[in-house]
Amino acid sequence: ATKPYDDQNIFAKILRDEIPSSRVYEDEWAIAFHDINAQAPIHILVIPRGPYVSWDDFSANASADEIAGFIRAVGTVARDAGLVPRGYRLLANTGRQAGQEVPHLHVHLFAGQPLGPMLA
Ligand code: 5GP
Repeated sequence: ATKPYDDQNIFAKILRDEIPSSRVYEDEWAIAFHDINAQAPIHILVIPRGPYVSWDDFSANASADEIAGFIRAVGTVARDAGLVPRGYRLLANTGRQAGQEVPHLHVHLFAGQPLGPMLA
């Protein structure tokens, strides 16, 4: 069972524009903004508008439209950033052992340099 969604988490506040972020994309299903502590020359976070704690929660509980809309948004963000065909990496920390810090699903998009076999 996934823990209940905390609508006071920092990304919920970013979604509601209660705290600022540098948005690079938004549509019906998702928004994207620059990570405040970039780990690569390009480091963008893409989040669904819906209240999902994690990849686990989202994949189990989101509607097919939400899932399709979110995945399409992730691809669009990367394409709009000019990363195709150069390349990019997606990462979704899920749960404690992965080090997930913010309890609203976010996909990290890393790019802008050769990334190596793993991002340390
Ligand atoms: P996680 O460790 O949960 O996968 O990633 C959380 C990410 O959110 C980190 O890379 C961190 O730098 C980023 N982050 C945390 N707080 C904020 C914030 O207030 N604004 C932005 N833009 N990014 C944040």
